[in-house]
Amino acid sequence: VSVDGDRLAARLAAIVGAAHVVTDPALKSLYEHDATGRFSGSSRLVVRPGNVEEVAETLAACSRSGAAVVPQGGHTGMVGGGTPRDGEVVLSLGRLQALGEIDRAASQVTVGAGVTLERLQLQAAAGGLDFPLDHGARSAATVGGMVATDAGGHLALRYGTMRALTAGVEAVLIDGRIVTRLGGLLKDNAGLDLPELLIGSEGILAVITRARLRLVPARRRRATALFAVADLDTALAVLDRLRAATPSLEALDYFEETGLRRVCERLGLAPPFSRSHPVYLVAECAADVDPSEQLLAAADIVEESAIATDAAARKALWRFREAHNETVRSLGVPLKLDVSVPVGAVPVFERDVRTLVEDVEPDAELILYGHLGDGNVHVNVIGAGEAADTLEDLILRAAADRGGSISAEHGVGLAKSSWLDLCRSETEISLMRDIKRVFDPGGILSPGRVLRE
Ligand SMILES: Cc1cc2nc3c(=O)[nH]c(=O)nc-3n(C[C@H](O)[C@H](O)[C@H](O)COP(=O)(O)OP(=O)(O)OC[C@H]3O[C@@H](n4cnc5c(N)ncnc54)[C@H](O)[C@@H]3O)c2cc1C
Repeated sequence: VSVDGDRLAARLAAIVGAAHVVTDPALKSLYEHDATGRFSGSSRLVVRPGNVEEVAETLAACSRSGAAVVPQGGHTGMVGGGTPRDGEVVLSLGRLQALGEIDRAASQVTVGAGVTLERLQLQAAAGGLDFPLDHGARSAATVGGMVATDAGGHLALRYGTMRALTAGVEAVLIDGRIVTRLGGLLKDNAGLDLPELLIGSEGILAVITRARLRLVPARRRRATALFAVADLDTALAVLDRLRAATPSLEALDYFEETGLRRVCERLGLAPPFSRSHPVYLVAECAADVDPSEQLLAAADIVEESAIATDAAARKALWRFREAHNETVRSLGVPLKLDVSVPVGAVPVFERDVRTLVEDVEPDAELILYGHLGDGNVHVNVIGAGEAADTLEDLILRAAADRGGSISAEHGVGLAKSSWLDLCRSETEISLMRDIKRVFDPGGILSPGRVLRE
């Protein structure tokens, strides 16, 4: 640690307490390696403020000393956005754990940035409500990280992404000023909506310290189906049928034969059906009366199906889908891309990707899964070796060529900043750079993320 580093550490210790400034290399390293295994870097120190005032003083101190800062929540992000590099200060928001009372009249709750998705879900449930966003990293992903990445998950089909569920934020600017808009008004068009700008900003504009979130009535009955289908075109027909049959459809995720085989090997599970099939769908409906009948609307076009209504059996069906991420991770460090295309283009996009992988690295293993109802495909290539960079470029271009986005829900981060121009115009990117300069004139907040240096 340099003399300057020592001085900054001492200044930060005076703000947050010495116990919350981490300089020990072994402890720091816990914040320096991400969940994908793809991103790691060095930090100058880790600082863990306990409230918004401490965040403000911390940022002001970093600003004054010109130290680059990267905000970090649960560090479950997939694109290197929260992983430090080049000796950045890690600003960990994990101690911002305030859980507000549920405001029943507004059906909203205000929570600290460090609250995990799971804790938020439990808090909502205790009040007879639901926070309608869910995904596999629920035990670690934080509200701040989810607002910052505009997280999606499998319920986005019915409720939208974090953008639709966020009614306000409190955030701290790099110079220490605090912007608070937590009133949660449904109608409030007085001027530009600054908090809205922060949703999906991946930590490059400001640090989110609290969020006002929308809740929905808890649905009493849920039914989950696992369908096996012949191909993705049939999968889209299933989506069409279910949508027509019921407004209670919440999720339609998919995975395929190769992924299922790997999941079953890893978890020691028996396959769900006696025969193997090219494509599997997990569909979920939620309503006040048992919605399982409605899931039968697609029965005549699927090859095999299993339907569950009790929590344990439903979880067992979801496990086949949710275990894909950890299974892929256990096979090494994959080329991992989260993209979206128009829903109707998923089959042709998948064909593009298969052809690309077969042409460029025929020995690589391709595992595709995702949120089919949102056109959100998670592409995983295992064993791409030296062809990984070429494939990454070709696959992102293929998504853009099909009218899609290079990032559906994981964000741009460090991983994809070089490809932003595939799905955003020169004018849009130049406006983004202007906005970044207004918020962060010194360019010290998450440099190089989203907007390439
Ligand atoms: C098993 C698994 C399944 C997943 N499934 C999904 C899924 O279905 N849908 C989905 O959207 N994502 C998914 N993810 C990705 C990840 O969980 C989300 O991106 C999540 O929103 C990240 O939250 P976090 O607290 O871990 O953020 P981090 O990883 O810590 O940070 C993510 C980004 O947000 C910034 N950031 C963090 N906190 C703040 C803050 N308070 N203020 C400003 N910027 C901040 C960071 O700098 C970084 O750029 C999954 C991850 C895993 C490991």
